[in-house]
Amino acid sequence: MRSVVHRLPSPAPGTEQSWLSLHFGTEGSGPKAVIQCALHADEVPGLLVGVHLRAHLTRLEAEGALVGEVVLVPAANVLGGAQALLGSHIGRFDLGTGINFNRGYRHLTPGLLQTVPDRLGADGAANRAIVRQACLELLAEWQPVTAADALKRELQMLAVDADTVLDLHCDSQAQMHLYAPTPWAETGLALGRCLDARLVLLARESGDDPFDDSVSRHWWELQEALGERFPLDLGCFSTTVELRGEADVSHELAARDAHGLLRFLEQRGHLLPGSTAPADSAGPCDALPLEGVDPLTAPCGGVLVFACRLGDEVQAGQTVAEVIDPLSAQSTPVKARVGGVFFAHSKTRWALRGERIGKVAGAKAFRTGKLLSL
Ligand SMILES: [Zn+2]
Repeated sequence: MRSVVHRLPSPAPGTEQSWLSLHFGTEGSGPKAVIQCALHADEVPGLLVGVHLRAHLTRLEAEGALVGEVVLVPAANVLGGAQALLGSHIGRFDLGTGINFNRGYRHLTPGLLQTVPDRLGADGAANRAIVRQACLELLAEWQPVTAADALKRELQMLAVDADTVLDLHCDSQAQMHLYAPTPWAETGLALGRCLDARLVLLARESGDDPFDDSVSRHWWELQEALGERFPLDLGCFSTTVELRGEADVSHELAARDAHGLLRFLEQRGHLLPGSTAPADSAGPCDALPLEGVDPLTAPCGGVLVFACRLGDEVQAGQTVAEVIDPLSAQSTPVKARVGGVFFAHSKTRWALRGERIGKVAGAKAFRTGKLLSL
């Protein structure tokens, strides 16, 4: 294993922060996979999965079972890891700017359309390498000022030339689910089955440039724009894995999830065949459009009492929760607007008016525009 320390620009004299990437296998000798833990620094399950993965990858490397290179970023967001406000850890937003650490990555397609058409040819494999190189060149032109933007640029550069990118997050309280690109629906389902995930939520573009979009979206956009003139494949499968809820941190779960991820890496050709045991997938795993997820919001403030359990199939119009005003004792129902799987909800039980308190995944797309929460 090769360990690389990435130094971030110092925000003030006398302070310094750096992050680490662990490189297993041999760079450039085959496909590349990147696994990134807790870009939202308060989403801890992925950090423990990373600890388990590190041990497995060390063993697999010693056994000669790795194909190409597997990069593990064991704690992707050291900036968010050190933030607290009034006794609460804040890992999702940069406290200095209020900007989400998983938004604002570079959308590379406009720059690629300027730079690659003159360089592409008749060889698909060569075109893939040319596009990857052009991505790195475009990102090298990005000169960030803040430490948060410097971190984003480095993370995007580390993953943009990979074949497989797994970004490990979690929800507030939720069943295992993942976000995957629509053009990669089958691969997303394969990963979902390895992880025994309940849902794979598909979108071509999520909005606001999250990390996972930023390393894969340009491939199908280039294919659309230039595919008739040049052979261009989809060079990168990227996904955001939501490892259940924030408190779902245990060695038992982490060991199971690490195994599922390695099983998937084997299916993708990053490990020699037979390196991992079959995953014991049991439950159903459905691929549904992200545009079909209904974010439930609290109609008023009050005590939040859920009427359904995670995993329940709910009907349109069904009461999923109630919000109770403790002053009037009045209860206001929160009803599902679409039928589907109630797969995630808030971990707190005090709701403010307008707050998102849960999600139901339906089969029919009905939302447009920016599809992710804040
Ligand atoms: Zn997250």
